[in-house]
Amino acid sequence: MLDILKEITNQLPKGKVSAAAFEGANIVLYTKDEEYVFSGTSEVKAIVNKLKKRIELRPDPSISMDMEKAEKTIKKLIGKDAGIGDIMFDPQRSCVVIQAEKPGVAIGKAGEKLQEIKKKTLWVPTIHRTPAIKSKIVENIRSVLYENSDFRRNFLHKTGQRIYNGWLRQKKEEWIRITYLGAGREVGKSAILLQTPESRILLDCGINVADNKAPYPYLEAPEFKIEELDAVIVSHAHLDHVGFIPYLFKFGYRGPVYCTAPTRDIMCLSQLDLVKIQINEGKDPIYTSEEVKEMVKHTITLNYEEVTDITPDVRITLYNAGHMLGGSMIHLHIGNGLHNMLYTGDIKFGKSHSLSQAANTFPRLETLMIESTYGGKESVLPPFKEQDEKLKSIIEETVKRKGKVLCPVLGSGRAQEVLVIIQNMIKEKRIPELPIYIDGMVWDMTAIYTAYPEFLSNSMRSRIFHKNDNPFLYPNIKHIGSRKEREQLIESTDSCIILATSGMLVGGPSVEYLKKIGDDPKHTLVFSCYQGPGSLGRRIQQGEKSFSYREKTTTVTVELKLQIEKFIVTGHSDRRELMNFISRCSPKPRRVIVNHGEPRQAADFASSIRRTFNIEVNLPRNLDALRLK
Ligand code: ZN
Repeated sequence: MLDILKEITNQLPKGKVSAAAFEGANIVLYTKDEEYVFSGTSEVKAIVNKLKKRIELRPDPSISMDMEKAEKTIKKLIGKDAGIGDIMFDPQRSCVVIQAEKPGVAIGKAGEKLQEIKKKTLWVPTIHRTPAIKSKIVENIRSVLYENSDFRRNFLHKTGQRIYNGWLRQKKEEWIRITYLGAGREVGKSAILLQTPESRILLDCGINVADNKAPYPYLEAPEFKIEELDAVIVSHAHLDHVGFIPYLFKFGYRGPVYCTAPTRDIMCLSQLDLVKIQINEGKDPIYTSEEVKEMVKHTITLNYEEVTDITPDVRITLYNAGHMLGGSMIHLHIGNGLHNMLYTGDIKFGKSHSLSQAANTFPRLETLMIESTYGGKESVLPPFKEQDEKLKSIIEETVKRKGKVLCPVLGSGRAQEVLVIIQNMIKEKRIPELPIYIDGMVWDMTAIYTAYPEFLSNSMRSRIFHKNDNPFLYPNIKHIGSRKEREQLIESTDSCIILATSGMLVGGPSVEYLKKIGDDPKHTLVFSCYQGPGSLGRRIQQGEKSFSYREKTTTVTVELKLQIEKFIVTGHSDRRELMNFISRCSPKPRRVIVNHGEPRQAADFASSIRRTFNIEVNLPRNLDALRLK
């Protein structure tokens, strides 16, 4: 047993603690004394206050009620109203996860039902929401975790050992350094290595889907050694931030991946989709579903503003980024107060239909690493209302022509935002009630949105929970789940809206639709997200009037005659919002590092920050390293 576990056990009455283990940064004590499970809490609390570590007292697995009997007891205690689904026991950790349609009802007033369950069964219950739309991926992830209960207990313990290894140890000379393995003066393949004498941490690990020449981060950089890596922290689930993580597992990484629960689920889906697209294109996939599964087994989820140690000298907190469901900014408290850094990932510091705007208050902050996708001075987004009106008239015109509106969307985030905007317009009777067809992984993403409404904005939550008005569940939403259904939809003469991945028209169903409806002027193509250089989307925006594809042995050329429009619903902040974020950041950073922007945008943004705030600004290229302390 490590020192800290010994020390805690010694502070409690003799013979009460049967086992002590880490679960990541948390410490779990088990007791075989049924009464002590409840009476010991105050003694444990006293230690928590002294050590400032999270410590939990649980019944030893040997005294928990038989599972079959416990399941019956749980169902009886919770009652029918909560809509109980699966009940999954984690016998190694005395934990039970109960799925419920109405978690609030299952938990009871001030958690009284949970208390009751723990008392009667000696299992520690957690309630998970059953997604309103059945989601295979959520089910699969949950079952992977529970099938690997033994593995998880060991893995979490090992992670804790690493975190506490060095606890109370003498300090080494302190320094902090970051290296850009990607996202330096580019949008795509975010991967930033943070090094201290004690830690090696990777912030994001993405790919650049639009770049055929250099799609992957520079893992060959001399300072990156996969066997030394302590942790990966993920800001959000877009492929340019997570697309390369399973590759780390392919090459032997077995440490933790930290992110929010929706990020975990959405990133799995995006990675599996990427593998599928690569196989369909006749390429060798860069990794397989096995490595995605390995990643899931090693993922530790955190809530916003939950503080956790991840190595002996780094403590992290995730903050809402406003960019997509579960998307986070990563705050790093390094070297016990030596330095505080915020990595924004992608942020929206402004209004959106379904998410709250990015947080801007932090306990401490010296260095700010900020994205600059729309950092250039010309990147000012039109007002919210104007965009809304624009989409309304695009839809109206297309309906008049009896055409279809094809909207290539990023699977997550923007697609759901577009969906909410359209549903709102229908609800307010500003446009006719049209069917919305969802194709590709947008469907599964939407299902994940229904699994984690806690991560939506206050107003969206109150709409869902109090007014029973969930725009993701309106009956006009239809799922296209097969090639046949897609063909039928293309053949049909009715007007509709189609939301399909990929957002930049690089593979996926959006391209399949464009192949078939692109030459008919009654339809409309509406871009709704950033189009990377080299992507078909970008080429069309730059004026290309046709595109070709291979069908078996022939080359087919499609003349683009449909109406082409751009409707901006970005999860990113525009130039004004980014500047606003910096000026309203509390406390004020002393240094800003600009990343995740095309060279001109990033450079322009960097010089404006320098001028406006008169602080040190860096604009690293890939493979540049910076010393922070
Ligand atoms: Zn993003």
